[in-house]
Amino acid sequence: MSRTLIIGCGGVASVAIHKCCQNSDVFDDIMIASRTLSKCDALKAKLEGTTKTKISTAKVDADSVEELVALMKSYKPDLCLNLALPYQDLHIMDACLECGVNYVDTANYEPEDTAKFEYSWQWAYRERFEKAGLTALLGSGFDPGVTGVFCAYAQKHYFDEIHYIDILDCNAGDHGYPFATNFNPEINIREVSAKGSYIENGKWVETEPMEIKRVYDFPEVGEKDMYLLHHEELESLALNIKGIKRIRFFMTFGQSYLTHLKCLENVGMTSIKPINFNGMEIVPLQFLKAVLPDPASLGPRTKGKTNIGCIMQGVKDGKPVRYYVYNVCVHEDCYAEVGSQAISYTTGVPAMIGAMMLLTGKWSLKGVRNIEEFDPDSFMEELGKWGLPWKESFDPALVD
Ligand code: NDP
Repeated sequence: MSRTLIIGCGGVASVAIHKCCQNSDVFDDIMIASRTLSKCDALKAKLEGTTKTKISTAKVDADSVEELVALMKSYKPDLCLNLALPYQDLHIMDACLECGVNYVDTANYEPEDTAKFEYSWQWAYRERFEKAGLTALLGSGFDPGVTGVFCAYAQKHYFDEIHYIDILDCNAGDHGYPFATNFNPEINIREVSAKGSYIENGKWVETEPMEIKRVYDFPEVGEKDMYLLHHEELESLALNIKGIKRIRFFMTFGQSYLTHLKCLENVGMTSIKPINFNGMEIVPLQFLKAVLPDPASLGPRTKGKTNIGCIMQGVKDGKPVRYYVYNVCVHEDCYAEVGSQAISYTTGVPAMIGAMMLLTGKWSLKGVRNIEEFDPDSFMEELGKWGLPWKESFDPALVD
């Protein structure tokens, strides 16, 4: 018997909730709580009758610790799965501490007024969670998330030391729009318009946005242009994986996306500084979000595959080892199964599995933890069962 409070009811949450309902033995009672109650009720109506999971809904403003605490005190969850936006992470962690509830999220905290994402704010909660005998599992999506589990798995089974990691995130899906983002547009644009960075010899190296471009021939997808981005898991993996000399993150972008983004940047539409418009204060990026297609509406239009994985180089018993582990996901298959495209799917499935690891006690470390700190084997086993099978190669092409 377990009770799970799920916060947020957008693209990622919808997939995670479908998956919880397919996994009623673990998720026998869930509450969907978000800002817009009608979305929670609509999802409940769609799923009820197809699952043994008991579903209830509530309206909550996750920016208010007081509202969160009141909700947790009345529902009494064992775990809170945070699938709202990164701005809410700390409020939800505060409420979890006050109510004795375990915590899982998929994206690290970011202050709303600065596009800066790093773990320091959430790591500062480590001792308080430890003392309370609670676990906060950070970054249980795909990247961060499965990418961390892939690295922990490689470290456990194939390497004594991993020297180089390249995380490659390829979305070869086509939604037919000249410009749209696959997950929350505000968060997505903040991420890709920020400076790039990677870690080399223990130090961050900063690049201009999209300065470093490579071409990679992705298995089952083909050749794509990819660009080096800053990404949150670099920070934790550089600490938790032994022997790291360099770790980088690349994401593929098509030319149409980049041209539109450049133009929007040039005219000031991606700015997060509030401006005055007709006597009203608006944030240009939030206005842009309002006119772009809702990522949740891309599901029926998106065709093609994603390929996300990690290429690692290091040594085992004194011999050099190369290892590539990745998942290929088909947008159309995700839509047929849960009514969402593959970006929401590849994030929502690991979010459910991370929550499942804590609820079943398979993962029991206390405190604030990144996903690669846990034993990877049981998570790797569940990935295939819940729709994200992985493949491995010991002779991959490398990224120069
Ligand atoms: P959406 O915008 O589709 O959904 C966000 C949901 O959170 C919406 O239901 C929204 O409510 C709700 N919400 C926002 N603010 C509040 C608030 N103050 N109180 C209560 N509810 C709130 O985003 P996605 O589903 O695309 O993304 C969800 C999370 O997943 C993000 O943090 C994103 O960064 C992360 N992510 C992680 C990835 C990974 O691989 N690790 C990949 C992709 C995404 P409303 O419906 O009213 O707008």
